[in-house]
Amino acid sequence: VRNYLAQIKSNAHLNAFNEVFEDEALNQAAEIDGKIKAGTAGRLAGMVISIKDNICYKGHKATASSKILDNYTAIYSSTIVERLLAEDAVIIGRCNCDEFAMGASNENSYYGPVKNYADESVVPGGSSGGSAVSVQAGMCHAAIGTDTGGSVRQPASFCGMIGFKPTYGRISRHGIIAYASSFDQVGSITQSVEDAALLLEVMGGPDAYDSTLIQKSILQYSTELNQTESPKKIAYLREALERPGLDEHIKTALLKAINNLKAAGHTVEPVSFEYLDYVVPTYYILTMAEASSNLARYDGVHYGYRSPKAVDLMSTYKLSRSEGFGKEVKRRIMLGTFILSAGYYDAYYTKAQRMRRLIREKTEEILATYDFILTPTAPTPAFKLGVEEKDPVVSYLADIFTVQASLSGMPAISLPAKTNEGELPFGLQLVAKRFDEQELLNFSKSFL
Ligand code: GLN
Repeated sequence: VRNYLAQIKSNAHLNAFNEVFEDEALNQAAEIDGKIKAGTAGRLAGMVISIKDNICYKGHKATASSKILDNYTAIYSSTIVERLLAEDAVIIGRCNCDEFAMGASNENSYYGPVKNYADESVVPGGSSGGSAVSVQAGMCHAAIGTDTGGSVRQPASFCGMIGFKPTYGRISRHGIIAYASSFDQVGSITQSVEDAALLLEVMGGPDAYDSTLIQKSILQYSTELNQTESPKKIAYLREALERPGLDEHIKTALLKAINNLKAAGHTVEPVSFEYLDYVVPTYYILTMAEASSNLARYDGVHYGYRSPKAVDLMSTYKLSRSEGFGKEVKRRIMLGTFILSAGYYDAYYTKAQRMRRLIREKTEEILATYDFILTPTAPTPAFKLGVEEKDPVVSYLADIFTVQASLSGMPAISLPAKTNEGELPFGLQLVAKRFDEQELLNFSKSFL
């Protein structure tokens, strides 16, 4: 813990943490040390973890990197925090992120942008940017983030880490500050597949507080983690490879991975996914609609920021929300409200729901024939700080490869590709069938 705390201090300018639980982490470590000596320590004994600042931890602030929650202290712990602590993980602090997890560069934060440790002039990705950097810069052993449309996988790609989003319904969302509930998921950013497996094993499984979870009890992911021996069938999306704007290095790495897999005896074939152009619009219509509804609770009355200028109920709502939310969050609340409005509901929301079903069915169809779908995680490596601010649509489009798994609820992992000296890191993504995490993790081990 002392080593990580020193690393956090010397890299404070990266802005990865919103708060470090220094004394508490040291106390926790001392206590766990005693348990280790007594032989009663849990499965995560000594694993030093950071949590994204949209994950509730009783008695600690949880801000979602928003001014509106700047003074909010969690009154209960999320299920995942309870499970991590029960297995003796040390929680070292809460990490910076895009406000309410809306973004892909960690620049939409009330607490300022995060810098990428590999090159401080570029973004770490988002929205779990602080989480990715916390692992990348050696400030903790592993990070817990959330992934609604790629927020664990894409920053992992930009920072050269492993980003793993399990199946929707595998890990409880109880105590996670909601963005778009039918997409939101907890995921991990780690340096090894072993850690991703162990963290899923500890955090996953049924929870009475989240009715969307599968009731099957969780597998022993870490003990059953074995490199895949048998040949697998892997699909890659023809449209993804041909997409204009796909970075040349990433394309080359993808083609190389395809050749390596073939050489290792796997079947790798191109498939058509004619909906690729629709995944981003479908994702944004649905998530903005859900966000506008979820964020209605920040009214300046129940909890969170209340404008000191408010004089009556209406001005409390208006001023607190106007002053409390950042620009991107406001954009999404307004668009989401429009999408759900009486005159436009069918044209946008209903249509996007239909599109979501088609995307899911087509993805299922591909995965009925193939074990995995291989894509780049993002079309480019990390971009310069300041780019997103100019054109949000450019940043929305960068989610093109991650949102397919989010729309269809499939597990997906971003694995760092081998890059040349001096190149920025980037990842390749594997998507598997729902609840096939064991297969996905096993294959990831041989893929790396
Ligand atoms: N970039 C996507 C968005 O802004 C993904 C965010 C996320 O997964 N939380 O919605």
